[in-house]
Parts: sequence; C-alpha cells; structure tokens
Amino acid sequence: MQLVDQVSANLEAIRERVAASADRAGRPASDVRLIAVSKAQPEDRIDAALEAGCRCFGENRVQEAQQHWSERRARYGDTELHLIGPLQTNKVKIALQLFDVIHTVDRAKLAKVLADGFASTGRPLPCYVEINVGQEPQKAGVLPDETDAFVRECREALELPVVGLMCIPPFGSPPAPFFGLLRQIAERNGLSRLSMGMSADFETAIELGATDVRVGTAIFGERTPR
Ligand SMILES: *Cc1c(COP(=O)(O)O)cnc(C)c1O
Repeated sequence: MQLVDQVSANLEAIRERVAASADRAGRPASDVRLIAVSKAQPEDRIDAALEAGCRCFGENRVQEAQQHWSERRARYGDTELHLIGPLQTNKVKIALQLFDVIHTVDRAKLAKVLADGFASTGRPLPCYVEINVGQEPQKAGVLPDETDAFVRECREALELPVVGLMCIPPFGSPPAPFFGLLRQIAERNGLSRLSMGMSADFETAIELGATDVRVGTAIFGERTPR
C-alpha cells in the first residue's frame, strides 16, 4: 500500500473509533478534536497526513516543530499546531510564532513569560494547564492539590486564556482513574476542555470526557528513534 493510502486508512480508522467512543459516552463526535502527533515522524508521513486531509497536528519540541512546520504551515494555511511538550521560557517567543494552542502550562514562571508574550504579540493562545495526575517526581505538571490556586493565578493575575487541563497518566497503570481525576479538577475550576488520551487509551479518555486526544503512532506508525 502507498504511504498516503496507509496514513489515510489509519486516520479513517481512528476517526471511526473516536466517533464510536463519543457515541458510547452520549456525546457528538464533533466534541472531540483529534490531534495527530507528528513528533519524531519522517517527513514523508507528515506529508501523507496532509495529503489525506489532516490539518490538526501536535509536536512536543519547539525546534523539531519548526523543522516540520515552518514551510508546511505556509503551504497549508488552515493547519492548526498544538504544543504538547515541555516549553522552556527562552523558547516562548518562537513557540508563539509557530503554535496555535499550548497544552503544557506547568509552572508559574512559564505562565508569567507566556502572559508577557501574549501582551507583546497581541495574539493570546488558548492554554491548558498540565497536571501531574500521578504525582510522579520526574514528571512535569502542577500537582492536583495545587491546581485550583495555580489556575486562579493564571486567570486572574496573569489573564491567561486557560481553556482546560492536560495530563499524561503514569505509564503502566490503568489510566481511567487519572482521567477521572483530571475531569473532576477541571469541573470544579469551570474548565471545559480536557486534553487526555493517546494511541493506547484515547477511547477510555473520550468515555471519561476528553475533548482533545493526542494520537501519534496509531496514525503515523512507530516513531524514528532520536
Ligand atoms: C508522543 C506524545 C503523544 C502521542 O503518543 P502515541 O502513543 O504515539 O499516540 C501524546 N501526548 C504527548 C504529550 C506526547 O508526548
């Protein structure tokens, strides 16, 4: 099978599974945004996804995103690009030129630098606060107990456009309780969007309220080791 047909078939299959999961949860499929995670993927697969009509992508590194997307964005003007990986404050300026949505606001310093960046570009981007739902020491994200205060600070003091929460549950444990926890924290903070669920667990995430699923390998195939 040609690469474009393979990626196109994968996309179609994932869209069907997204719709079926939404249906099981009594939600319209249009509630769920499918973000195709193109990090560490070969150029020809990214081109295949574009050719197959995909226009919503996620990247986790600013520099790699620039390589993948600087020119492609100009060619495919309706493409939406999501930052789903850690953001260093010295890369904020570049990130704000490249991305449309930031999923990884995980600390006060970054929130402040983003707020300053939005003030200078005049183009505030929708932001998600990343929550360390498993309270894992090596992982980025705001601790569940500290989320309410952090979200309040972002919204009130910094006027960041916080639209939702994002999480990556601990590897190797069933994800459902963590998705449930993220939803609970979002609800009590009046946040409507939930960025949760990847190739292995996006159906569970949708059943528990995900509005944004980040799917890489199930669309593109295995990543190239970097
Ligand atoms: C890589 C990555 C994904 C996609 O993972 P797959 O298992 O390939 O679907 C989703 N979210 C984040 C934050 C990632 O870094």
